[in-house]
Formats: sequence, structure tokens, C-alpha cells
Amino acid sequence: NIKFESVGKSYGPLRVVDGLDLDIREGEFVSLLGPSGSGKSTILMMLAGFEDVSEGTISVGGSRIDLLPPHKRNMGVVFQNYALFPHMTVAGNIAFPLEMQGVSRADIAARVSRTLDMVQLSSLKDRRPIQLSGGQQQRVALARALVFEPSVVLMDEPLGALDKQLREQMQLDIRALHKRLGLTIVFVTHDQSEALTMSDRIAVFNRGKIEQIGTPREIYDHPSSRFVAEFIGETN
Ligand code: ATP
Ligand code: MG
Repeated sequence: NIKFESVGKSYGPLRVVDGLDLDIREGEFVSLLGPSGSGKSTILMMLAGFEDVSEGTISVGGSRIDLLPPHKRNMGVVFQNYALFPHMTVAGNIAFPLEMQGVSRADIAARVSRTLDMVQLSSLKDRRPIQLSGGQQQRVALARALVFEPSVVLMDEPLGALDKQLREQMQLDIRALHKRLGLTIVFVTHDQSEALTMSDRIAVFNRGKIEQIGTPREIYDHPSSRFVAEFIGETN
């Protein structure tokens, strides 16, 4: 499980994350939901190791991970701007991070093929990103995060660039992968309906603090404040 204890983050005088306490269970799908600027991405960056923690601690399975470098955290990361390498094939894009870590050729081939299966891209493995739809490109980005077989996957608005239909398909795909692989997923979104349909629990953020945390039902039926009620009630 992942545990945030009194985690704070400031950029100069700006307090972006403020006294965050959050427990995420193993295998849980948790969404961080909140308006623009409420600190969601910053929290994910601290968890992934791309940003330092200013105050407090983050631990996984009882060990502090905020002291580990990113590549030792065993977390897959998918961002909205997933930037595939245009000159490499699908398989090449997925193999690349393994090559960087000096994994053997045979091992790379086996892992890439297994991961391609997982996201149903085997038949497209020799194409280049430009020859893929947005949803297929997003699948490649997902595969790149899964190829290390992480137990935790962090996603920051991964579906923001997709149209409604693809978005809904990917929501189902991600849920299915979550279940099948027993992944712990921390999913950042500012889309209420996406959080409501996908999550085991939702943490609603307001200015760097959790305003309310609970199951989609609890949040939807019993918003604890006007802020939550209005934010959940908004339609995009
Ligand atoms: P969005 O939904 O727009 O992605 P967010 O909830 O992910 O928003 P963050 O990206 O975590 O918000 O940013 C929180 C605040 O921290 C914002 O006010 C942002 O301008 C500020 N911020 C983020 N990164 C930096 C940085 N490197 N330097 C200074 N301020 C930053
Ligand atoms: Mg963000």
C-alpha cells in the first residue's frame, strides 16, 4: 500500500500541496479529482520521483520511497502528452525503456510481445505512431508503462486527448487491465464522470488539500461540502 503522511509541497511562496494524508490499498483504483491547479499532477510527480517532497513522507509497503530515485520505485507512469518516438515502430517504442536499462535481447523480445498482447496491439507492432489512431497511440503509451511489470501505475489525464467514444473504450480497457493484473492505479483527472465510473475511491482536491475522499457512491450521494457538490454536479 501507498501512504502519504503530512506531505507538503511548495514552489517558493506558493503552497501547492498542503498536509496531505492518503492511504491507497494494494490493488485499489484511486482517482485524484479536482479543478485545474489543485495540485493533482504535483502529487503524482512526487510519487513517481520526478519532484522532491518538501515536507512529510511517502512510503510503499512500509518503506520510504521518497528517498529512492525514480527508476527504483517500480511504478509505471502514463502522461497525457505521452510523446512516442515517431521514428520507431510500436514494438520499438515499448522496447526502448528496457534497452536503456540493459535488459537482454531475448528478454526484451519476450516482454514486449507479452505486453503487446496485454493491450491488444500485437497486430500493429510494426507500425509507426503516425500510422495509428489516437486510442492506439495511447495504448502504446500504456504498454510502455506496463512493460516493466509494475504493481503500481500512475496516470495523469491519460485520456484527455481522445474523443468521447475512444475515451469510453479506453476507460473500459484500463479498468479491465486493473482487474486482470491486480494493479494499483492512481488516476488523475478533472473529469467527474470519468472518476465516478472508473474508481474504487475518489479523492476530491481543492487547493492542495483533500476536500473529501470516498467511494463514487458516497461522493455522489453525500458530498461533504458545497465545493464537492458543485464540482461533482458540473457537466463537461
Ligand atoms: P491541471 O488539472 O491543470 O493539470 P493540477 O491539479 O494538476 O492542474 P498542478 O500541476 O499540480 O495542478 O499545479 C498546482 C499548482 O502548482 C499550480 O498553481 C501550478 O501553477 C503550480 N506549479 C506546478 N508546477 C510548478 C513549478 N514547477 N513551478 C512553480 N509552480 C508550479
Ligand atoms: Mg495536472
